[in-house]
Amino acid sequence: GLTAGIVGLPNVGKSTLFNAITQAGAEAANYPFCTIDPNVGIVEVPDRRLDKLAEMFQPQRKVPTTFEFTDIAGIVKGASKGEGLGNKFLSHIRQVDAICHVVRCFDDENITHVSGKVDPVSDIETINLELILADLELVDKRIAKVEKLAKQKDKKAMAEFEVLSMLKDAFEKELPARTIEFNEEQLKIVKGYQLLTIKPVLYVANVGEDDLLDSDGNEYVRQVKAYAEKDHAEVVVICAKIEAEIAELDGEEKSSFLKELGIEQSGLDQMIQKAYHLLGLATFFTAGAPEVRAWTFKKGMTAPQCAGIIHSDFEKGFIRAETVSYEDLMACGSMAAAREAGKVRLEGKDYLVQDGDIIHFRFNV
Ligand code: GDP
Repeated sequence: GLTAGIVGLPNVGKSTLFNAITQAGAEAANYPFCTIDPNVGIVEVPDRRLDKLAEMFQPQRKVPTTFEFTDIAGIVKGASKGEGLGNKFLSHIRQVDAICHVVRCFDDENITHVSGKVDPVSDIETINLELILADLELVDKRIAKVEKLAKQKDKKAMAEFEVLSMLKDAFEKELPARTIEFNEEQLKIVKGYQLLTIKPVLYVANVGEDDLLDSDGNEYVRQVKAYAEKDHAEVVVICAKIEAEIAELDGEEKSSFLKELGIEQSGLDQMIQKAYHLLGLATFFTAGAPEVRAWTFKKGMTAPQCAGIIHSDFEKGFIRAETVSYEDLMACGSMAAAREAGKVRLEGKDYLVQDGDIIHFRFNV
């Protein structure tokens, strides 16, 4: 499955956040470089539509879809030069599909900051520069390979050389690859390089308990948001400490605690949803008496491909997808009423599944 990697300088709140994710409750120590091996935390993707569908179908089981976070710890200055554990971290980042970059936006004299003061933009740049340098090295190597051929007017080499020049240009201005607008053909070439700075980024602004309600009043958060805009990244504001507390609660307890705090959705839930959308993921549902279930698919997938997510036999023997949109089903009030109203469509093998579709697959065995 797809995964989002959690990165950030030491002491910004990564372990606290990751503990909230896994609910493991392992000690978050005030000590740099404390989490070295990457870990995976699996979370349920919050989706009110699943609850509404369960109310309608009254199934025996309600199964949410899940999302995976990988904890990539302690990336440090000089990582791209292979100092210490640097290369290992870069190779872990290469393996994830999106980056959740935790940034310290809280003041606390008791907690050491690696560079001596809280400065989120400078922190972000420290890590981003390492990623850009690693990409630049790769691009330079590639340029050395194709430049000569491109000058001899080799078509393929010329196309590649153009892309490489665009990348090098951006990197020299300290801009990540994701800020460049490529056409479709160029994008195909770029994808082959597996660049670090092409990956979608979510900045996770970790604020103090007192700043959670009025995060726009936090100057650090404002700086992160301004930076994210020119960096083509997104931002979510959380308080890792409170998330760790929330993670220990369930259902009722959780919603009343959130009400007490005056927030609608936990930061972690927002983070899950944003990471999910950054990756171009969406959800379709299957619904019946035994089970109402959410499934993750990638936007652009066809009905047979989505059937294959449930079971490979469903894809092989695919006939039709009986499909109704979530809005139509809710407006009609029941499956029978939706059918009567002509809202249940029979879709074929070229149908592109939409977020919120409720699907019953018909297939041959
Ligand atoms: P990591 O090195 O990035 O994994 O950072 P940790 O999660 O270990 O956090 C470093 C220290 O900052 C710990 O003592 C945490 O309790 C503390 N911390 C994390 N988040 C917050 C927060 O939102 N507010 C405050 N005041 N402290 C926090």
